[in-house]
Amino acid sequence: MKRTPLQVAVVCWLVVGCAGVHRFHPNFYSLDGDIRLGEQLSKEVETDLVLLRHSALNQVVNTVGRRLLDASPEPAFKLFPYSYHVVDSPEVNAFALPGGPVYLNMGIVEVCETEDELASVMAHEMSHVAARHATEMLTTQNLSQLAIIAAVSVVPIPIPPIAWEGAKLGYVLSLLRYSRGKEAEADRLGLRLMNAAGYDPTAMASVFRKLSEQQHSLPSVVERFMSSHPLSEVRMRDAERQSAQLERPNAAAVAAASPSTFPQVKMMFAKD
Ligand SMILES: [Zn+2]
Repeated sequence: MKRTPLQVAVVCWLVVGCAGVHRFHPNFYSLDGDIRLGEQLSKEVETDLVLLRHSALNQVVNTVGRRLLDASPEPAFKLFPYSYHVVDSPEVNAFALPGGPVYLNMGIVEVCETEDELASVMAHEMSHVAARHATEMLTTQNLSQLAIIAAVSVVPIPIPPIAWEGAKLGYVLSLLRYSRGKEAEADRLGLRLMNAAGYDPTAMASVFRKLSEQQHSLPSVVERFMSSHPLSEVRMRDAERQSAQLERPNAAAVAAASPSTFPQVKMMFAKD
């Protein structure tokens, strides 16, 4: 049966609406469309990235990702096959592609002092995926450059080549600039996710504070991150306020988590 765009929007709304992630946002992509678009984009951006492979740090990142996902209070998180990648770059940045691939630069890993802080960055990025912010944006904004990618939305055909503008990574990152509302939603969902997994939700605000300090001391290193994740005083205070309001999970679940090896592993990769 062929559906009209309106019917597709209603079906997507029902899927997302039931999951309780967010209010009505039209999304012309199917869930599978998110996943296939992310797979395609990850192949493209990885031509511009140097990934750390087979390292203890990848292991830590994968363990944190699994712990967050297992504890997820929102069914929407379970709809996507997340994968976690550490990028060998001193630039402070993190991003997620639709459908699950999450990228963390060494620069942002180094900013994180504890596993809770690392989990806050990952939980925020996973929330963009679960809330399907990228494909929502492709649906609602008139991004003519992306009309060709949008063909992946409901029709199961191979994705045509994308007309890249300059470096693929830079192009994709420029697309992943979310509205303040979407950033606030990723913070809110991320805080609940890390809290459910037994991480300290106040770690999100402490990462924000550190990034904000870096913006003053080393602006060029955090420039790209700040352009996609502007850190206003309001946003930092919101993270503090929301984390204070969250009900912590029972102590047994938290105690069951194995002790963090993140600080030691991070030392192995730290650059002078
Ligand atoms: Zn974000």
